[in-house]
Amino acid sequence: MKEKTAIVTGGGRGIGRAISLELAAHGHHVTINYKSGREAASETLEMIRQNGGDGSTIAFDVTDAEETRKAVAEIAENFDIEILVNNAGITADGLFVMMPQKDWTTVIDTSLAGFYNVTKPVLKKMLRKKRGAIVSISSISGIMGNRGQVNYSAAKAGIIGASKALAAEVARLGIRVNVVAPGLVETEMVKNAPIDEIKKMIPMARIGQPGEVAKVVRFLCSEDASYVTGAVISVDGGMA
Ligand code: NDP
Repeated sequence: MKEKTAIVTGGGRGIGRAISLELAAHGHHVTINYKSGREAASETLEMIRQNGGDGSTIAFDVTDAEETRKAVAEIAENFDIEILVNNAGITADGLFVMMPQKDWTTVIDTSLAGFYNVTKPVLKKMLRKKRGAIVSISSISGIMGNRGQVNYSAAKAGIIGASKALAAEVARLGIRVNVVAPGLVETEMVKNAPIDEIKKMIPMARIGQPGEVAKVVRFLCSEDASYVTGAVISVDGGMA
């Protein structure tokens, strides 16, 4: 029998790294995807191994359907994919009226085409086993909409709609599909955000840590969440 694995897209740094570490700490073999951050992904794998876990790294760009399909096939040759975390995401902020087409396209492509490109081949494998958990990382921007993030809000709202619809399609086939919607979390992505200003809007008056998102993702991936599907769980200090 093949070993089981959990794929985490963009699993080498930021929230993705925390998710990789959290799943590994709970006994999962983790397949850490990266696009260009090879060093960070290797570092994450090293951290997993130092904690007594195991995993592997694999490069693919989630916006590239063919590259992603080949990568998933390669993973599936050696492992049963039991968990998928769609975490890869980017921002390209700016007021909509001045937003270049490429900033619209790349943000939508990473989150939404990425969801399609990765989830579809993984789902086909999961359906054979009639078992699996898929968790996608949306954002508070996808729930409330955020000024300067029309592209990102659209992409992240799309993740919610897609996940709810897919959850309904596969609920009877042993596969659960859920969403985690973080608020402001301390990673590279928000290094230029006006954090002191934003803190004033957060009931808990602080920004979140990647590990606080990862714990909720791990719960949704686990049997403890056996009756949870099509759900959106906010991890945002009370903002939404
Ligand atoms: P980071 O910028 O720190 O990390 C982004 C990750 O996405 C990196 O691992 C990166 O890989 C990966 N990635 C980007 N594009 C691609 C691609 N085309 N193919 C494969 N991997 C890709 O961001 P965060 O950790 O903060 O964000 C993680 C997720 O959480 C994102 O979906 C983000 O939208 C969401 N989120 C973050 C919030 C925050 O406040 N930080 C709030 C709400 C949601 P590589 O290193 O190889 O480039």
